[in-house]
Amino acid sequence: MTQRLSPRQILDRLVAFPTVSRDTNLPLVDWVETYLASHGITAHRHWNEDRTKAGLFAHVGPMEPGGVILSGHTDVVPVDGQDWTSDPWTVTERDGRLYGRGTCDMKGFDALSIWALVEGQARGVRRPLQIALSYDEETGCMGAPPLIASLQAAFPKADLAIIGEPSRMKAVNGHKGGAGYRVHVRGFEVHSSLLPQGVSAIMEAARLIMWANDRNAENRAKPASAVAALFDPPCTTLHTGMISGGTAHNITAADCRYVMEFRVVPGESPEDWCQAFEAEVEQLRAAMQAVRPEADVLLERFFDVPPLVPEAQGTAEALVRRLTGDNATHVVSYGTEAGHFQAAGISSVVCGPGDIAQAHQADEYLELSEFHAGQAFMEKLLADLI
Ligand SMILES: [Zn+2]
Repeated sequence: MTQRLSPRQILDRLVAFPTVSRDTNLPLVDWVETYLASHGITAHRHWNEDRTKAGLFAHVGPMEPGGVILSGHTDVVPVDGQDWTSDPWTVTERDGRLYGRGTCDMKGFDALSIWALVEGQARGVRRPLQIALSYDEETGCMGAPPLIASLQAAFPKADLAIIGEPSRMKAVNGHKGGAGYRVHVRGFEVHSSLLPQGVSAIMEAARLIMWANDRNAENRAKPASAVAALFDPPCTTLHTGMISGGTAHNITAADCRYVMEFRVVPGESPEDWCQAFEAEVEQLRAAMQAVRPEADVLLERFFDVPPLVPEAQGTAEALVRRLTGDNATHVVSYGTEAGHFQAAGISSVVCGPGDIAQAHQADEYLELSEFHAGQAFMEKLLADLI
């Protein structure tokens, strides 16, 4: 049995793995698995399709339902083009802050969770404690659903999940959901003077973007539901943040690529929005193919986050409120894996150290005071489970 590491020592190890979402997270997963094994905890993996990444989950305490899941993601956003004062892959303490990529979002919470699991094993929790560490969160939360399914197949069902995205240790019980598509409109090139014989991928894409503008106007005009009113803006929004296409002013564009994003208020379903969009695409495709059968619209879904719906008397929120003493209501505008846990039938709440404003930035940091507040929270949680 190796020495039990402090949360800070675990954080140092985790940040040293440059687990940018586009790259593998396996060295980190190997390290966590070995560390847990050295304390008598068997971790399990959920592999991605090409086995370049894995989610990790583990359980301590009696093999029975009713436990608590601590959930974090292992991937981080890139540092490309960012101006860092110190090495992003080394935790550097300056002015009461821990600098490093992922310290805030969200290896600080990961480190606390791993620490709490080992402590839970050593102290002998009477109520189960589980951890779930995912991959591909930053690119659209696509790693969480299969990880949750694997965890639920392997272990007795937990009562609740705490998703430790940075919330300054406040209990966040609601967030918007999201969905996104990479859209590739394929047109047909002719000289623009012969416009009706061709299909301009750009001008057809513009129809779909205009459809999104129209939905935005409708959403803004209709009265907000009680839960939607908690958010700013209090409605679902559709957005295109990138577009490219065409080769010359006088050729109907053969290709136009763009992204379409949906930010969906609780009470509405990202799936419904996706269906509405795909129905619109279907109609457009038919109209384009009536001119040129080669024309097409190809969709790739890249982002899928169910909203976190505030639960009436949710057990997750109640536990976090009891441990933090925080009784206010908080919602956030960013999406998290909490929506996936809730969709899988587990009461869920977001609560973690740090401020989302520091996430994804150059010189990302986690305040030491937040890290300590996180550890104090874990101590209370452990006391509750023993
Ligand atoms: Zn995050």
